[in-house]
Amino acid sequence: MNRSAWVIKEHGAVGSPRLEELALEALQEGFVRITLKCMALNHLDLWTTRGLPGIRLPLPVIPGSDGSGVIVEIGSHHPLPFGLGLGSGVMIAPGLSCGFCFECQSGNDMLCKSYKVMGHHTNGTASTTIDVPIQNVLPIPSGWTFEEAAAFPLVYLTAWEMLMEKAHLGFGETVLIWGGSSGVSTAAIQLVKMVGAKSIVVVGDDQKAVKCWDLGATHVLNRNRENILERVKEITANKGVDIVFEHTGPATWTTSMMACRRGGRIVTCGSTTGPDVSLNLRSLFARQISILGSYMGKRSNFAKLLACVESGSINAPFRPTIDKVFDFKDYPAAQQYLEAGQHFGKVICRVSNSSVIN
Ligand SMILES: [Zn+2]
Repeated sequence: MNRSAWVIKEHGAVGSPRLEELALEALQEGFVRITLKCMALNHLDLWTTRGLPGIRLPLPVIPGSDGSGVIVEIGSHHPLPFGLGLGSGVMIAPGLSCGFCFECQSGNDMLCKSYKVMGHHTNGTASTTIDVPIQNVLPIPSGWTFEEAAAFPLVYLTAWEMLMEKAHLGFGETVLIWGGSSGVSTAAIQLVKMVGAKSIVVVGDDQKAVKCWDLGATHVLNRNRENILERVKEITANKGVDIVFEHTGPATWTTSMMACRRGGRIVTCGSTTGPDVSLNLRSLFARQISILGSYMGKRSNFAKLLACVESGSINAPFRPTIDKVFDFKDYPAAQQYLEAGQHFGKVICRVSNSSVIN
């Protein structure tokens, strides 16, 4: 038995992974085998392909941290979580940890020393088949397509960790969200609305602005036409926002610091415009701003996220935003499309046909 997978043998340009036929090994104890229906791309796919300065990633590696599919084999004597079984449609939690250390036992699995992200540190979902530990399978909410299921795990887990666990977002607070068209920001807009807080979302064009309104944004600003800092001051009556939702880095950092209120929080999970920012320490301590780093999230929070999906109302929809679906054979083109930055929401590859779940 073989599987087809996109493989990064050496770091190179975005779009450079090659399609290969790989032999399937015997399924390990404690794992399930999933035939993938869809996988979703993240910026992590691009970083893994290019390589990160100073960080050594194991090569070759199959990219892709998000996926959905059907369980075709179970290598476990223990029951699967959420009542799942052979033939169940599932989505895949992307984080892997040892399960035994203090952090894992405390529920902080993303702080585990051996924490790994599928598709970055280990083989991922740009493949027709994947084996994952049984604790990494999640049920697909009723009525969702495999595309939506693939689009859900990484960005919703990340947005939840940033807003709820790190920044302790509260009712009535205001959040400045950069890059409103990215997958993680579309999740953040929905989360902010769900808890009864307000969002000020920044985008680059009016079409994307309309889509952010549709997702439940309170205010949408066009960075090409408006002075973001001035508009934030206007909206917040000169107070500044309670929380800044950062994932861009140097292009936005100075404004993020200025737009944050005294005693506010800046939470960041990414650096799409580069890793280095300048920081005025006097401004940081005098205005008592907290800067919070966030990476992935606690796997246990998927249960809370699934509960939010189930209880979501028309006023606060809680469902992934899909931009475009590519064929699996066009995964490199999907990478290039994501890099170009014209998307709104998630970019998906359909690995095998049939996107409807029974
Ligand atoms: Zn651990």
